[in-house]
Amino acid sequence: MHFYGTSSVNEKGHLTIGGVDTIDLAKDFGTPLYVYDIHLIRQRARGFKDTFERLGVSSQVAYASKAFSSIAMIQLIEQEGLSLDVVSGGELYTALKAGFNPEKIHFHGNNKSPEEIAMALDADIGCFVVDNFYEIELLSRICKEKAKQASILLRVTPGIEAHTHDYILTGQEDSKFGFDLQNGQAEEALQKTLDDQSFKVLGLHCHIGSQIFETTGFIMAAEKMIEKMADWKVKYHFSAEVLNLGGGFGIRYTKEDEPLAPAKYVEDIITEVKMLMDKHQLAMPEIWIEPGRSLTGDAGTTLYSVGSSKHVPEVRNYLAVDGGMSDNIRPALYNARYEAVIANRPDAKAETVVSIAGKCCESGDMLIWDLPISEHQPGDVLAVFCTGAYGYAMANNYNRIPRPAVVFVEDGRAELVIERESYEDLIKHDRSLSRFKEGSER
Ligand SMILES: *Cc1c(COP(=O)(O)O)cnc(C)c1O
Repeated sequence: MHFYGTSSVNEKGHLTIGGVDTIDLAKDFGTPLYVYDIHLIRQRARGFKDTFERLGVSSQVAYASKAFSSIAMIQLIEQEGLSLDVVSGGELYTALKAGFNPEKIHFHGNNKSPEEIAMALDADIGCFVVDNFYEIELLSRICKEKAKQASILLRVTPGIEAHTHDYILTGQEDSKFGFDLQNGQAEEALQKTLDDQSFKVLGLHCHIGSQIFETTGFIMAAEKMIEKMADWKVKYHFSAEVLNLGGGFGIRYTKEDEPLAPAKYVEDIITEVKMLMDKHQLAMPEIWIEPGRSLTGDAGTTLYSVGSSKHVPEVRNYLAVDGGMSDNIRPALYNARYEAVIANRPDAKAETVVSIAGKCCESGDMLIWDLPISEHQPGDVLAVFCTGAYGYAMANNYNRIPRPAVVFVEDGRAELVIERESYEDLIKHDRSLSRFKEGSER
């Protein structure tokens, strides 16, 4: 098996994470269970942050909390001195409840509601990443009502779309996000916001994609943005204080994936950005990045209990676990691929090939196709690796399956940070038909 972070095998031959036996975790907290190796999260966070420091470049590394947001997770991010991206009132609320410094919160989203904007202004967050013309008007109006000024970045689409192994150059980007850099919309947005006392325009933002393994796409995007910055400096005397290059740094889900280390992404991008700034005789702005997946993805492992199996002669062996698309919708949503082992004996040789099925009433509820696996029996624990990003965050109650618990492990200790939902929780917001019938209250 491939060992992520602190994962290892103990004297019993069991998989351990953070020095904790995963079989004990499954017993103590039940399954399915998300286990986070928080030492690995800290290591990744420092990998990004320390590299900027070493290169002498002012920066903010903002965790894109949509990847996995919870009170404890945000507290961990605060401990590591990172900033935070939120994309909704709910994520903002979680951050504020976690005691996160509002000045280091950046608010994203292509359709922020008036209520969300008001909430963020009241909390005095650090920055709005403004996405469209409607938002410029809305934010301006609410700022005036509240006699506040908002620091903003303009989200632009530079015409670079990065995918895992390639990137696409488009004249005009067909995306729901941001102001197009090529067709003049970004410039119009700049004019509008520079003219408005409600705004302090800090600079530009772009986010070109996810699970990216090379720095070429980031550099191409930076180049497009820096060219415009040079142009706008002359035209509008606008000097960007901030250049935000987004997130999307790839991780290793399976042996086919070969990501760069955080330090390497940062080094390569910064070297190029510095050169481009020099070339255009611009002062180096603060560089912001927004890793989500690369901070939490491979730090998360899901533990399931092995249940039923089905053998279709000469076709396939199905092996079912006690979770599925309710706790990890990524395979069903975009054919995401994972690796897994029997946590009771991760070192044992794979003897068969099985396809891991969930327990939801959907044929598409499959977690892993064609997984080589060692000998196993019902009650064994299956550990699926790299489920730390967009796993819990996208978990749902399909089939009224309660969402699993989340534990953090570090230095031989485990701590429950999100409780498992109960059946009671599932009906908490349900109201009985009789209330409606009596006509007393809806
Ligand atoms: C989703 C997103 C990120 C994080 O992406 P990852 O692939 O998880 O690193 C960063 N910035 C923005 C604007 C995003 O939408």
